[in-house]
Amino acid sequence: MVTKDSVYTRLGAVMWSIAKPQLRMKTAQAYCDAMGQARVKDLKAREIAFAKSKSCIFCGGSVEATTVDHYPPRAVFHDNRWPEGYVFPACVNCNSGSREADNWAGFLSMMDPNIDWPDSELEKNVKRLVSLDRASPGLIKEFFGTSAVEKKSMARRLKMERARGETYADLPLVKIPEVAHEWMSVFAPKLTKALHFEHTQRIPPSNVGLNYWWYTNANQLEGKVPQIINAWFEVIEFTTK
Ligand SMILES: [Zn+2]
Repeated sequence: MVTKDSVYTRLGAVMWSIAKPQLRMKTAQAYCDAMGQARVKDLKAREIAFAKSKSCIFCGGSVEATTVDHYPPRAVFHDNRWPEGYVFPACVNCNSGSREADNWAGFLSMMDPNIDWPDSELEKNVKRLVSLDRASPGLIKEFFGTSAVEKKSMARRLKMERARGETYADLPLVKIPEVAHEWMSVFAPKLTKALHFEHTQRIPPSNVGLNYWWYTNANQLEGKVPQIINAWFEVIEFTTK
């Protein structure tokens, strides 16, 4: 039976559904103006990430996601040029658990001595290193603390030539701190899981086994980097020229 009340209610519902899109647009516009483009981008990232899954994709899929994680982390891209859409639903633990690892990866990504980085990027990298040193006190000392004697033996082992007038102490040789291996053990699985999920839409199970290797450019001089990776570098060098 249709009562007067239910007709009004239905009518109200119809009127509301007509008004709603306009209202929504007006609200969205007001929101954009108030919060600025950055906030809108965040909202968009959230929308994209949560459309992919409601569960955290980094710890097996049984924990509800409440945050958005950019992976590969934005720190590894320069000049704010990260690819759009690589945003993933994550729980707080998985998201914040890679802060140092992400910073370290970002820091490493600027260690190429053949690139003349702009001051603004170098400044960012110094900040990263300072923040890493705060997380792991003594890191900077360990990183830059290679003595001239150590540098001499490293240079010989790596068959590095010195430029005219350059002393062994001048050589840009650094030591990979112990803690960096821990950070890479967080970074590599997270990156793999994000890419796996992005391309298969399947959340890797929490007990998934993962092998990874990471190499430095010193390893390259020692001939320890597999040919398949070296070949890749040649492609990158070719395409960036
Ligand atoms: Zn998680």
